[in-house]
This record gives sequence, structure tokens and C-alpha cells, in this order.
Amino acid sequence: MTTLQEFRCEVCGIVTGNPTHWFVIQCGNSELTVHRWNSEAANAAGARHYCGEAHAEVYISRWFDSVCAPPKPNFGRASPAQ
Ligand SMILES: [Zn+2]
Repeated sequence: MTTLQEFRCEVCGIVTGNPTHWFVIQCGNSELTVHRWNSEAANAAGARHYCGEAHAEVYISRWFDSVCAPPKPNFGRASPAQ
């Protein structure tokens, strides 16, 4: 008898016992790693779980925002090239 392990998507909260097409993200202060679903990555300390590409991207965007927060260049002004 196997124990069915369930995972919850951090973005939408959906729970599954069969996360075949899910993604695992491991995130530190200086790097973010995306894994195709595998139980080793999914069970690692600090791993985050997402139900698909779209929701993995939501997290990645937030991470970019929080880490980089780049100033938006203003290309609407006179171009420096000409
Ligand atoms: Zn989701």
C-alpha cells in the first residue's frame, strides 16, 4: 500500500495527488531553479510547487520584481543613436 502524497499549487491552491505536469521551483536569494516534476525536487526543503507553466511563471515574475526591480528605460524620448 502506497501513501498518496498530495501537493498544493502555491498560486491557485489546487491540490493534486498526481502532479505529472507540474513544476518545482527552488529559490534562493541569488538564484531560482525550475525543475520538471520529480519527487526528489518536490520533496526538497524549500521547494515550491506549481500546477503548470502559467503559475510557475507567476512566481518567477514576482521573483524578478523582488530581486531585480529594474528602472524602466524610457524609449519614448529622443533616441540616443540618431
Ligand atoms: Zn496553479
